[in-house]
Amino acid sequence: MSTDDTPKRAALTSLPAIRAFVLADQTPTGAAIFTLEGVTRHFTFRVKQVRRDGEPIPCWNVKVLAGGAVDASPKWVYLGSLRSRRPGQTAFIETKGSQHGLAFESFAFFARCYLKKDKPHPALRFYHEGRCCACGRALTTPESVQRGFGPTCWEKRAG
Ligand SMILES: [Zn+2]
Repeated sequence: MSTDDTPKRAALTSLPAIRAFVLADQTPTGAAIFTLEGVTRHFTFRVKQVRRDGEPIPCWNVKVLAGGAVDASPKWVYLGSLRSRRPGQTAFIETKGSQHGLAFESFAFFARCYLKKDKPHPALRFYHEGRCCACGRALTTPESVQRGFGPTCWEKRAG
């Protein structure tokens, strides 16, 4: 067994894997943290499921990393929210608190191509930041790193 518990980031390449990561059913400690790399710029986003009366609902708040680092005093700025009426019908919604700019445009583009339509963009790279999208624990085994889910959350999801 490895004792190295440093989160390991990795690329997700298939559309289903990316969707499963971004729109996972999250525990209260969970969040999907990932970086989108285009040709000229990159942004790190945090997608966190909204809970009502303690229960998760099909709505996720989207923030962008605007300072610090994911594991060192991150400064997250709110961009908008993802709402899902039914699977495959997820849309990025602008709200009153949305911060406009390149990060907003980038996420809106990603949401349109990857979450609403089945049109992944060949020049866009998706990297998770090494933490389970459902519970937030560091991903350490090669298997977990490859899928973006820790073993317990992966089993719960399959079962
Ligand atoms: Zn997990």
